[in-house]
Amino acid sequence: MVRRILLIDDDRLQFRITQAHFEQFAAKAYELDWAPTYEDGLQRLLSGGYAACLLDYQLGERDGLQLIREAVGRGCRTPIVFLTAETAHRVDVEAMNAGALDYLVKGEITPRMIERSLRYALKLGETLEALHQLATRDELTGLLNRREFDRILAEECERALRFGHSLGLVMVDIDHFKAINDTHGHPLGDVVLREVARRLAAEVRTVDRVARFGGEEFAVLLMQSGAPAALDVARRVCGALEQTPVKAGDALALTVTVSAGASALPQDAQVDAALVAAADKALYAAKQGGRNRAALFSEQ
Ligand code: GH3
Ligand code: MG
Ligand code: MG
Repeated sequence: MVRRILLIDDDRLQFRITQAHFEQFAAKAYELDWAPTYEDGLQRLLSGGYAACLLDYQLGERDGLQLIREAVGRGCRTPIVFLTAETAHRVDVEAMNAGALDYLVKGEITPRMIERSLRYALKLGETLEALHQLATRDELTGLLNRREFDRILAEECERALRFGHSLGLVMVDIDHFKAINDTHGHPLGDVVLREVARRLAAEVRTVDRVARFGGEEFAVLLMQSGAPAALDVARRVCGALEQTPVKAGDALALTVTVSAGASALPQDAQVDAALVAAADKALYAAKQGGRNRAALFSEQ
């Protein structure tokens, strides 16, 4: 597999030199792309299409350190190898602190050195990515785990208040899930959990976030969405389960239903805990109302 490497450097000569280095690599494992400006580099880096990035310190009016900080701040996890000049003392340390995985000193670089550094950055990058997945994802469903959801929820509540946006929350709980476990066994319960997770994720936009909140309870965070939109998603989620039975093995198709409660910031709450409490209250009302339905906090 040929992996794409991005060079961000405002100097065409450096691109030519790097290209020449790449041609001398022992294995033809990499393909080099070039971004000559800060903006172009940042955009391509955030596109996520690169296995690793070689980043120059000097980039016109701004520098590579700023670019690392901005990219990392915007969720970029592509491994970055920093290119420093001999005269720029301590910049290498700053680059590593900002998130670069390695650095090379321009003028001292050999093909073997750059190949070694790329291989190292890719390997370390894979390990860090695996750790990140373990720390932020629920293993059974692949959705965000509770801890990561709580972190994002707090951040998004603050952001929404600051910019005057609304933020919708839907809490979803599977109806009579204990009976599914008791009747068909725990492994089949797990199959149902995975399928509910898949259908939830299919009902929302890519900007929204879906988490496994607890055992058979899920949370959906809807960016820049008010109460009507949250209720709409809550209803769609109920419909998505009710209308199509969950296939469990060859012979079994189970009709699984869920109840959902919706709330929105700022009308129902101003902080994360209160927003969750409001959606929970609506969820409780949906359960009390007979299950397989959606309820809105402000209508309770
Ligand atoms: P309600 O309609 O009121 O929500 O009833 P319920 O049976 O869905 O709710 P209850 O809270 O009584 O039961 C939830 C069950 O979910 C109990 C627990 O054993 C099960 N559960 C929690 N986590 C998992 C899991 O990871 N896998 C499986 N198979 N079951 C789980
Ligand atoms: Mg339940
Ligand atoms: Mg529950």
